[in-house]
Amino acid sequence: METLTGVVRRGKAQVELDPETVGRIIGGLAGGAVGARIGREIGRFFVRVSSAGCEEVQSAVVEIEEKPAQEEPARVEQLTTREVAALQRGRSVRELVDILSGKSFNISWEASANYHTDWNPATPADTAIVKSIINPNGNNIDWTNPGSWPYFRPRPGVLKLNGRLIAVGIHLYPHDIVMSENPGPPLSNQQGRRITAAEARSWGLGATWEGKWYLGGHMCMYYGDSPSGRGEITTGFAKRMNDAARDAYSRGL
Ligand SMILES: [Zn+2]
Repeated sequence: METLTGVVRRGKAQVELDPETVGRIIGGLAGGAVGARIGREIGRFFVRVSSAGCEEVQSAVVEIEEKPAQEEPARVEQLTTREVAALQRGRSVRELVDILSGKSFNISWEASANYHTDWNPATPADTAIVKSIINPNGNNIDWTNPGSWPYFRPRPGVLKLNGRLIAVGIHLYPHDIVMSENPGPPLSNQQGRRITAAEARSWGLGATWEGKWYLGGHMCMYYGDSPSGRGEITTGFAKRMNDAARDAYSRGL
């Protein structure tokens, strides 16, 4: 509760407050009044007459009822790769929300101004959440079979970064190198390794899997204008990942 001095004028009375709002009419008092309680709501004031009998010009004490400002919920933002990289330096643990499942988990994350982000689930418990997203019915799955994981299938997500919500496109296929020291299994380091024809056969994956990334390593995150490992932004896989980031922005949380 805050007390300020105001002026109530006769007739169509006005209430003015010092010092910030001098001259600004913040409420009307029908019939004049010597006192008014002024409640503050978001973006506007309202006035209640507490007593009547006003002189032509008379000082009055008005009280401002401070209501706690309602915090606006954070909105999902579409930032450029460069803008994201400017927000945070270095690798840290951040929360990632998978929009389609509504599930969230922690990741080891770092941004680059001129590249997309390669990330790992922060702990084995976070990898377990990733698996529950891939396998929502809890079926008995052989996680060592690359075909058990969605191969580079883009999906919308939201990265939580210093109170901001950033639209991202992610996939949940671990490949290539591990980006943190504490990845959950089976994200072992398989740098540069590709699936051989014999391996594809042994896993029952078919010939189309030959030459695809071996299981292990990191997953990717794009921001809407992020280049792939080959510098591509608008073609093929990079385009679909960037489109997923825009999808995340339009869906929101
Ligand atoms: Zn990547």
